[in-house]
Amino acid sequence: MGQEVVISTETTKKIREIAIRSAPDEDCYSSKLYFGHVLSLKDKVDYLFIPRFGSNHPVNVGCPKFLGLAEVLESMFSDLPPIIKPYFSRAKGGHKTYHLLAKAFAIGWKFTKNPIKIVRAIRKAIQAHKQHKDELVIDEEMLHKWERSEIYLNDEPIAQEGERPLKIALVGHSYVINDDYSSLDMRKKLKEHGVDIITSEQMPRDLIEKQMEKLDFNMYFDYEREILGTIMHFQETGTIDGIVHMIIFSCGPDSIAGEMAARFNRRNPNVQLLQLVLDDLTAETGMNTRIEAFTDMLRRKITKDAIHIPTLRVSEVRV
Ligand code: SF4
Repeated sequence: MGQEVVISTETTKKIREIAIRSAPDEDCYSSKLYFGHVLSLKDKVDYLFIPRFGSNHPVNVGCPKFLGLAEVLESMFSDLPPIIKPYFSRAKGGHKTYHLLAKAFAIGWKFTKNPIKIVRAIRKAIQAHKQHKDELVIDEEMLHKWERSEIYLNDEPIAQEGERPLKIALVGHSYVINDDYSSLDMRKKLKEHGVDIITSEQMPRDLIEKQMEKLDFNMYFDYEREILGTIMHFQETGTIDGIVHMIIFSCGPDSIAGEMAARFNRRNPNVQLLQLVLDDLTAETGMNTRIEAFTDMLRRKITKDAIHIPTLRVSEVRV
């Protein structure tokens, strides 16, 4: 609609420093980083767009912290530009698709009084979102091709001569595993250790749903369904060498999914699980050591399959 969109950069050391200085101490590490992103953008824009997106499912929801971000920021910092903060939740607000379209239209109306322009922009956004999802989430056939090492889903691993790449599921919130700084460059580290990864957000949705049906309660946090469903699927099939679960410190939903994953894994240690807890004090050196040790053990397991390796739970690495 003729407006320039300024997107915050990937997380940097400076953003992290602003975040730690400004965010409430008790917030999870990801929320703190969000504060850092907003504050580093505030002087570059006329509006901030911080949607209060609750859910796109009749029952399951996203994290409640997402809903509060805009208001918490507004109440803490008086010098922010106006915040565009549409609220949408199928689960809690009973909202339907037309609510979403009406909210999108109202946002467009701020910038142009031409309804055709707004409708075109909405249609383009919906198409772009669908295309992104279609490219990201794989189907079962692609998953089996990846398991048979016929394709890579992410960067090609750097394996030593004569070694086969390890197959590992990298599991966690998308805003952590796709952000080099907050994940301590986990994708690159795994690639350099000869690991071929699949991420939890790439997993076929029907396989995740099948796993969730096996629980005797409804795991109603969307992200945790994805995380736990991925872990449970691979623990059941045993088609990969290991799972790396990145947990954000003081994340409530993650602490439930993480504990359940660890218990399932103790009962059925089919695939080794490494759980890493990240916060603003996590040391990269400690993380490197743990990844190196984990991949070494997986390789030893390949060569001497009889070795029993217990589930590793690495608590916060602090300096
Ligand atoms: S899901 Fe967890 S990590 Fe994400 S914002 Fe909520 S509490 Fe923080």
